[in-house]
Amino acid sequence: MKKYLLLLLIILLVGCGSKVNKMKDLSLLNKAEIDAYAKENNLKVTYKDVYSNEAKGKVISQSIKEGEKFDKDDELVIELSLGRLDDNTYTNYKVNELGRVPVMMYHGIHNKKSSETSYIGGNVDKDGYQRTAEAFEADLNFYYNNNYRFIRLEDYINGKIDVPLGYSPVILTFDDGLENNIKVTGLDKDGNIIIDPKSAVGVMESFKKKHPDANITATFFVTGDIFNQKEYNDKILKWLIDNGYDIGNHTWTHVNFKNASISDAQEEVGSVYELLEKKIPGKYVNIVALPYGSPGVKTHQTYPYILTGTYNGKTYHTDACLRVGWESDYSPFSKYFDKEFIKRIRAYDNNGKDFDIEYNFNILKEDRFISDGNVNTIVIPAKYKDYISNPYNLELITY
Ligand SMILES: [Zn+2]
Repeated sequence: MKKYLLLLLIILLVGCGSKVNKMKDLSLLNKAEIDAYAKENNLKVTYKDVYSNEAKGKVISQSIKEGEKFDKDDELVIELSLGRLDDNTYTNYKVNELGRVPVMMYHGIHNKKSSETSYIGGNVDKDGYQRTAEAFEADLNFYYNNNYRFIRLEDYINGKIDVPLGYSPVILTFDDGLENNIKVTGLDKDGNIIIDPKSAVGVMESFKKKHPDANITATFFVTGDIFNQKEYNDKILKWLIDNGYDIGNHTWTHVNFKNASISDAQEEVGSVYELLEKKIPGKYVNIVALPYGSPGVKTHQTYPYILTGTYNGKTYHTDACLRVGWESDYSPFSKYFDKEFIKRIRAYDNNGKDFDIEYNFNILKEDRFISDGNVNTIVIPAKYKDYISNPYNLELITY
């Protein structure tokens, strides 16, 4: 008899131990049924509404996939369809996902008032490569107030443009890894970096607090000196990655590729990838901002080696290259888009002339990318359909 009891106990224990929560397919449930399922399994459920061709209220995706294990208190994100927008809405919002995209090029941000410089509009040097913190903050407000929202450069090159219906994407980039991009003034008692609020990241962080819906982010292109703050460089890189910013490659010595040999090119590009791989493994972007915009033509002998090469016995690949100046670039869905040769707008002020911010954004009024709010579709006026390239196999909707 004792033997049987023991056996029963073992069966019970094994039975309890094997009770693992596995997610079920939620695609055919409605919101009330999902709420009930989440409650029953102690899951925190949040809903995200997206426009799609599916009927309104239909589940588009579940963050914990069917068959995946989960624990209680895990977060379950459900995308629910808002239904498809009708052609009138596209027309009213002038949706055009073949419109142009501004990639802004910044360098230094200086802790100065714009009235303290000898140049116009918050430029700190003649050409406006250096800007005051005040002017930079005004730039951010200008983009935001003109219905632009920030996206990652990495997402742009991969055709992932996630901004709400009627809004346009804008991308921020910083070259040279200058100290004033993210100036660290010390460490707090827990060892976290304290960031100067008037450095570029300081300005962006305070903007983020005021406008969480702006999704502000930027990509910083560094050389071998990283952010020129030896004692803090490692902490800075980690902080940027943890806080939604990206790091890219600006070559080890800020080389001019026009005057470089093939082996120089591989060393310049490969050594920065090697450094980033050591400091933030797998967390940087494989994008090169070309110093001086050089070599200026893709036919230069170094170009193939900027894109792929070998350094220290390791092969690297570059997904995209950025040029210097002067205007917005194509939509990633345009057949003319070339991610290996992306144009940027120099973010400076010249009274609306010579390709400054105001000049470019005036042109963009006629021809900007305007989103349908759905990252999974490409929506364009029918007259543009011959200009489409769709390597991401997104659903194409013309109206
Ligand atoms: Zn540079």
